[in-house]
Amino acid sequence: MTANFAPVEAFDLVIFGGTGDLAYRKLLPALLRRHADGQIPAGSRIVGVAREALDDAGYRKQLQAALADVADAKTLEAFLQQVGYRSLDARKDAGWDAFAEMIGEQPEHVRVFYLSTSPELFVDICGRLGHYRLNEGKARVVLEKPIGRNLASANQINDAVGQVFDESQTFRIDHYLGKETVQNLLALRFGNALFEPLWNNGHIDHVQITVAETVGVGHRAGYYDHAGALRDMVQNHMLQLLCMVAMEPPSSLAPDAVRDEKLKVLNSLTPVDDSNAAQLTVRGQYRAGNADGQHVPGYLDELKDGKSNTETFVALKAGIANWRWAGVPFYLRTGKRLPNRVSEIVVAFKPVPHSIFDSSAGTLAQNRLVLRLQPDEGVKLWLTIKHPGPGGLRLRHVPLDMSFAEAFGVQQPDAYERLLLDVVRGNPTLFMRRDEVEAAWRWADPILAAWAASGEPPRPYTAGTWGPSASVALIERDGRTWNEDSE
Ligand code: NAP
Repeated sequence: MTANFAPVEAFDLVIFGGTGDLAYRKLLPALLRRHADGQIPAGSRIVGVAREALDDAGYRKQLQAALADVADAKTLEAFLQQVGYRSLDARKDAGWDAFAEMIGEQPEHVRVFYLSTSPELFVDICGRLGHYRLNEGKARVVLEKPIGRNLASANQINDAVGQVFDESQTFRIDHYLGKETVQNLLALRFGNALFEPLWNNGHIDHVQITVAETVGVGHRAGYYDHAGALRDMVQNHMLQLLCMVAMEPPSSLAPDAVRDEKLKVLNSLTPVDDSNAAQLTVRGQYRAGNADGQHVPGYLDELKDGKSNTETFVALKAGIANWRWAGVPFYLRTGKRLPNRVSEIVVAFKPVPHSIFDSSAGTLAQNRLVLRLQPDEGVKLWLTIKHPGPGGLRLRHVPLDMSFAEAFGVQQPDAYERLLLDVVRGNPTLFMRRDEVEAAWRWADPILAAWAASGEPPRPYTAGTWGPSASVALIERDGRTWNEDSE
């Protein structure tokens, strides 16, 4: 099946942090793949910016090695012709005059400034872009997470960026929203008559969202120890997924129609604070163990001073106080050094009200809609059918498998491919609006405060296990279990 590519106009895309991990692992490979598919118009320029003293040729040489596996040599060579480099320090004046002049050479181009640096630099970078009036014309800025470490610091960043870029020019990226499965959730929910009548507390028993990683913190320990799992994963990615499951049908896919509905969900989250955090949340921290096929050190061993109360695992039970979702728990869990790398949403439906089958037929299982974001993006709907053939009426629970790669024979684009081109198109539907970020922090801040006030350290768990046993207890107390397929 051939893919359709919507054309975009010529653009200049500047990656601040162009030599960083994210740029090399995600942004530049995504751009190269779009180039390979002919989606980057001639004349477009991609410019890496960092302090390292490199020139265009030096940067291209580094990229040639880093991107060798992404495309064939000829395609890579052609792509690199569109790539340049400027050595700049976000905090120093040197070089900015020449940089501004170079960007100004193509005033008709869409200009994208992708801030793939530590958020502490966002204010300096935006200030300088404003000083050189590079925020004018068709200019857009992309902000990587984390946007702050609480509501107050998020506001500081958003205020400073907002002095230079209008909200309509500001793209706060959450790459989970660019994933094929998340798009498909929209198609399933709002493109079928089948699901929406059941999509409420009358028919849905609970929802689970799991984002499990096998890796530890590794070289990102410095950043991570300052953040922890709640800030790194729950406040942004997992709440955004929760919103996509729980939002009311928007009137269209217009950016504000979707974002207004997500905001209402965030504002309806039931508070978790000192009064209930001990019952509704579990924090964990990994210890040495066997994970990722090897013996790995514990979290504290990876830190310089070997001391920390930062959580590398969190499980929590969230609630949404509105008519559709009252009484339906949303169980969220995420962690590092877990047994499998898996991100998925499980929508578990209520059991049938009465079984007509006798015990020889076997037990009736709940219908579950499982949306897998990674690996193997796809959707499975678990149904009960009769075991085929003779032997009486025996029930079987089978998945109706809608795995995209197999079903459509199309290679899945990486989320960054879609999102980067959405920025060029000026389409912010899949990006977070400022008020969403604020609402998410307003919910997360009291959890962080409750943990800090309790003075309790996170519960230890062995690397390669599914977190502390209290996480299992959190859901089993309610007579439910974490989805076994992911485990
Ligand atoms: P990184 O590997 O540490 O890269 C940081 C980049 O910023 C480097 O290119 C660095 O180059 C540049 N830089 C640092 N100080 C600078 C300055 N004063 N002026 C100009 N450039 C400067 O970080 P990363 O992992 O790529 O992450 C970048 C951002 O994306 C962070 O906000 C991170 O939280 C976010 N993020 C990363 C990932 C990921 O998987 N890596 C995932 C999600 C979000 P020089 O030192 O040469 O200047």
